[in-house]
Amino acid sequence: MTERIIPIADARYDAGIPSVPARAYAPAGVLSDVRGRAVRDLRISVTDRCNFRCSYCMPRTVFGKDYRFLPHTSLLRFEEITRLVRIFAAHGVEKVRLTGGEPLLRRNLESLIEMLSAVRTVRDTPLELTLTTNASLLARKARALKAAGLQRVTVSLDALDDAIFREMNSVDFPVADVLAGIDAAAAAGLAPIKINMVVKRGVNDGEIVTMARRFRGSGHVLRFIEYMDVGASNGWRLDDVVPSAEVVRRIHEWFPLEPLAGGYFGEVAKRWRYADGSGEIGVISSVTQPFCASCTRARLSTEGKLFTCLFATAGHDLRALLRGDYSDDQISGALAHLWERRDDRYSEIRSDATRGLRRVEMSYIGG
Ligand code: SAM
Ligand code: SF4
Ligand code: SF4
Repeated sequence: MTERIIPIADARYDAGIPSVPARAYAPAGVLSDVRGRAVRDLRISVTDRCNFRCSYCMPRTVFGKDYRFLPHTSLLRFEEITRLVRIFAAHGVEKVRLTGGEPLLRRNLESLIEMLSAVRTVRDTPLELTLTTNASLLARKARALKAAGLQRVTVSLDALDDAIFREMNSVDFPVADVLAGIDAAAAAGLAPIKINMVVKRGVNDGEIVTMARRFRGSGHVLRFIEYMDVGASNGWRLDDVVPSAEVVRRIHEWFPLEPLAGGYFGEVAKRWRYADGSGEIGVISSVTQPFCASCTRARLSTEGKLFTCLFATAGHDLRALLRGDYSDDQISGALAHLWERRDDRYSEIRSDATRGLRRVEMSYIGG
């Protein structure tokens, strides 16, 4: 008897199968949307599963034990991901970030990393290959990830206070194990390490200065992320957001900060350095200071849907093309067709009306 597969996520968030242009399309190495934003970064969700249940991302009320994750056959295979990445790279993508869910839960992830590290950009350089993780498995895997070709990691850590952290991840995971993961990643050469802290008022905003104190001088770059209204399940309220300006002000009272000039077009973090030379921090202000005008990111969901915005309500089914009888040139043409029509700028136009939309969950398309 064949296994009965219920493709739950396939039916949701579906923008259909992209149309394939009749004429052959030769990628020119740069692909711009209607607002002049080139596609440069690709975020790939390699699993929709996670061993944490952070309340702002996968609250237990929604992601409980009856929640049906994608069946394995729905997931893009490593060969399919690599093929798509090659096609994206020919359109100018230079950075690939693996994410999820928790990417380190995907079996043999090292093999995918090895395959991706062989892909070249249009400038004939290797891709910038990174990964975002909750670090629960990082201490065990850091060396193998580095050996496979991973260049850097970003670790999510929302508090140093063990009780607050255990409460936020909702699975009683201890902070010491995340710190061990960070140390292992540094020892393996996956540096500079970025540490992402989502700040939620009344929950972990008391940890802002503690985190700054802990990581200044460490060589790691701590980044504070405004709590966002991604997905439809985290019960987001504007009152829960701690504006980045407040974060900077609070740290500045203890450790004076100076603004650093921006890095590159499309960089989302505003950078600040400690006046005493003990490193830098970043703030990501997607709510109070949207950066849609320079958004160069495409997102690929676990089963191969392309999302042109983190707040999209539907994605384009690239897996159907991969598993259909289409050549690389045809898929390349379909991608160009999609990106050239991209007009997303959700954070700039966020309002009560847009908040009511049934948006895709962050754990499904990755952060
Ligand atoms: N599980 C991995 C992790 O936590 O690093 C990777 C996936 S997670 C969805 C990627 C990033 O999204 C994490 O840094 C997480 O803190 C962030 N994130 C999730 N929900 C968020 C929200 N509502 N607002 C802001 N950031 C969020
Ligand atoms: Fe899992 Fe990351 Fe979401 Fe937390 S933020 S629930 S670790 S996917
Ligand atoms: Fe990019 Fe959409 Fe976020 Fe704007 S809201 S920065 S377009 S992902």
